[in-house]
Amino acid sequence: MPAPIVRLALPSPLRRLFDYRAPLGVPYTALQPGVRLRVPFGRREVIGVLVQRVEHSEVPEDKLKSAVELLDAQPPLPESLFRLCQWTAQYYQHSLGDTFTWALPTLLRQGEPAEVRQERFWHVAEGVRPDDPRLARAPRQREVLRTLAQHPHGVPHALLGKLQLNKNSLDLLLEKGLLRLEVRRHRPAERHGDWLAQAELPLNDEQRNAVEAVRAGFGGFNAYLLAGVTGSGKTEVYLQLIHQVLMAGKQALVLIPEINLGPQTLERFTRRFNARIALLHSSVNDRERLDAWLAARDGEADIVIGTRSALFTPLKNPGLIIVDEEHDASYKQQEGLRYHARDLAVVRARQEEVPILLGSATPSLESLHNAHAGRYALLRLSRRAGNAKPPRFLRLDVKSLPLDAGISRPLQQAIAETLAAGQQVLVFLNRRGFAPTLLCHDCGWISQCPRCDARMTLHQRHREVRCHHCGHVERQPSNCPQCGQVDLRPVGAGTERAEERLAILFPDYPVLRIDRDSTARKDAMQRMFATIQHGEPCLLVGTQMLAKGHHFPRVTLVAILDADSGLFSADFRASERMAQLIMQVAGRAGRAEEAGRVIIQTHLADHPLLVQLTEQGYFAFAEQALSERRAAGLPPFSHLALLRAEAHKPGQAEGFLDQACSEAEQLLGTLNLSGTELLGPVPAPMERRAGRYRAQLLVQANNRAPLHRLLGPWLTVLEQLPGARAVRWSLDVDPIDL
Ligand code: ADP
Ligand code: ZN
Ligand code: ZN
Repeated sequence: MPAPIVRLALPSPLRRLFDYRAPLGVPYTALQPGVRLRVPFGRREVIGVLVQRVEHSEVPEDKLKSAVELLDAQPPLPESLFRLCQWTAQYYQHSLGDTFTWALPTLLRQGEPAEVRQERFWHVAEGVRPDDPRLARAPRQREVLRTLAQHPHGVPHALLGKLQLNKNSLDLLLEKGLLRLEVRRHRPAERHGDWLAQAELPLNDEQRNAVEAVRAGFGGFNAYLLAGVTGSGKTEVYLQLIHQVLMAGKQALVLIPEINLGPQTLERFTRRFNARIALLHSSVNDRERLDAWLAARDGEADIVIGTRSALFTPLKNPGLIIVDEEHDASYKQQEGLRYHARDLAVVRARQEEVPILLGSATPSLESLHNAHAGRYALLRLSRRAGNAKPPRFLRLDVKSLPLDAGISRPLQQAIAETLAAGQQVLVFLNRRGFAPTLLCHDCGWISQCPRCDARMTLHQRHREVRCHHCGHVERQPSNCPQCGQVDLRPVGAGTERAEERLAILFPDYPVLRIDRDSTARKDAMQRMFATIQHGEPCLLVGTQMLAKGHHFPRVTLVAILDADSGLFSADFRASERMAQLIMQVAGRAGRAEEAGRVIIQTHLADHPLLVQLTEQGYFAFAEQALSERRAAGLPPFSHLALLRAEAHKPGQAEGFLDQACSEAEQLLGTLNLSGTELLGPVPAPMERRAGRYRAQLLVQANNRAPLHRLLGPWLTVLEQLPGARAVRWSLDVDPIDL
C-alpha cells in the first residue's frame, strides 16, 4: 500500500497548499494536523506544516513527491493557535505557510525539536562527602566539591562560570568518580507562596469599577476598552486583574508596543509578582524566544509579555489578554503578513473564550467606534491617580515670531523659568538629525535623495546626509554639487540641532537627546533615564521615543515644537495620530506632585481640532473626528484594502494596477457585490522610493463581507496576470498608512 497523502502549508508566498506522500513507515495516526514535515521543494528542502490528510490528490501519481521526514510526534502548535493562523491567513489573504513563518519561533521553522531543551547538571556523586580524603592534597577540587554539595538539585552546566566552578577541577572530580553528570529537562523555576511579591495599591473608585467590570467577565469572551488619561493608573488595573488571573490558575498575555519595552514597564510586572514571566520582544535571541514560547505553551509561564508577534504565543490555560496602548501603530505589521495584533488579539480572545482588555489614554477611533456600537464595554479613568493633576495646555502662536532652531522666544522664556525652579523640561520634535534639508543659498540646490522623492536629512555630527526612507548615505558636501559655491545652509530643525542650540542657550544644564540615533548604543537609554530619574534640572530633547509610557516625575514643562504637519496632511489618519502623539507627550508632564504644563508651538493656533483637543481633551476631539469620518464614509465607517505595487520602470506599477482594477470590476459584476468602490490607481504619496516607482489601488466597501468575498478570487486572478511577475505587489487589508 502506498504511503498516505498529506496536504501541507509551506513557507512560500503562494496562497495554496501542497500535496506529498507521507514518509515511508510513518503510521497513519502520527499524521495529525499541525505536525511538521521536511519535504523537497524545488531544489531545496523546506519544513511544512500538515494541514490535513487527503484520500486523493490532483497531483498526478508520478509527480507526487515523498516527504523526507516527520519531525514531531505531537503537533507543536496547539489546535487553538493553528485555527488562529488559519483565520489570519484567510482574513489577510496571505499564504498559510508564510503565516506560520511569521507566527512560529524561528527555531521551530528551522526544524528544532519543540521541546524544552535538555541540560547537563553537575551533582556530587552518591555517598561522597565534601571532606573526602582523596582530595587531601587538591584544595581546588575540594572547594569545587564543597560548592556543589550546597546545590542538592545539581548545578546546571550554564551556571558553572557564575559560581566560579573551574572546568578542569570538575573533569578531574568526574574521573575520580566523585561527581555525577545528569542530563534532564531544565526544571521550570519553582514558585513559593503568594503570587504577590509587593502589596497592591488601594484603588480609587474608577479603578475599582474597571477591575470589577472585567472580573465579572472572566471565564468567557468579553471585550473591554479601558480609556484612562495618562497617569490614571491603567497599569495598576492590569496588575490587579492579572493577580486575579493567576489566583484562578490561569495565564495572562500582555501585549505592549515596541517602544514601551523600556525596563520601567517590565520592572513593574517583575516587582509585583512572584510569577514566571516569559518575555518575547525583538531583542531576545532565537533560543530564548523558543524557550519562552514553549514555557507558555506548556503552562510553565504565568505571564507572557511581548510585542506584536507575541500575540501568536500559545497558552495552556489562557485567562486574560491585555493590549496596552492599543492605539499604537507598531501593532500593525508593515511587511509580509500585514496583520494588526490588536485586531487579532480580539479574534483570539473570542476563539479561546477569554476576556480581552484594550487600554489607552488615546484610544483609536476604531476601538471607540466599537465601544459606541456596544461591542466593547467602555471603562473610563478620567482622573490621574494619586495626587497628580492634569497638565495645562497653551497653544503658542508662532506666526511671524523668529524661530531659533525651531524654538521661539516665549518658549525659551518658559524653559528658563522651569529650569530655574529646579524642574525638568521635555522638548518634543518628531524629526531626527540636524536639519531635514541642506540648501544652497546661491543656486537653490537641495539635498535630494537620488533614489527617492524625498530630501536627505543632514546629520552634522557624522558629517553625512542620510535618507530616512531608503537608508542612502552620502558625505556632507562642503561645496554645492550644482554650482560649486560654499554657502550650504541647513533648513529646518531636527533633534540634533535643537539639542545643540539648547546647550548654548542653557549652558548650566545638561541636555539629553533621546532618539533612535542617540540610543543606538546599548545602555545609552538606561544611562540617560538614570540621569532623568535622579531629578536634577535638565532638558530632554527627543522624538516619539520620549512620548510613551515613561514616568518622569520631575518634568513639569513639555514643549511641542511643531504641531502643524498633522493638521494638513493628505492621510485621513494624520489628525488622529497627531492628537494621540500630543496627548501622549503631554502625559509626561506633571506626573507627580508638581503640576505640569504643555506648550504647543503652531502656526494654526485657531485650528478647530487643536482647540478642541487642548481645551476639551482627547475624547471631545475623538467624537468630532469620528463624526467627520462618518460623514466622509471613511473607516471605521467603511472598510479598506490597499493593493500596492512597485517597479523599476515608471508606469509599470500603474499598468499592473490598471489591469487589477478592471479584473476587480469584472468580479464585482459576476459576484454581484454592491457597496464596493475602486479608487485609483494613483501614484503612492512618495512615488519613488529606493529606486522604485510605486502606485496603489484602494478598495473601499461599506461592509466587510462583500469586500472579503471579492479579495479571495481577486488575488487568485492577480497571481496569474502576465504582468504580476514584473512588479512587486502586495495587498494590505485594513491598511493604516495610505
Ligand atoms: P497609566 O498606566 O494610566 O499611565 P500608571 O499605572 O503608570 O498610569 O500610574 C501612574 C502613577 O500613579 C504611578 O506612579 C502609579 O504607581 C500611581 N498609581 C496608580 N494607581 C494608584 C492608586 N490607586 N493610588 C495611588 N497611586 C496610584
Ligand atoms: Zn549651488
Ligand atoms: Zn532615499
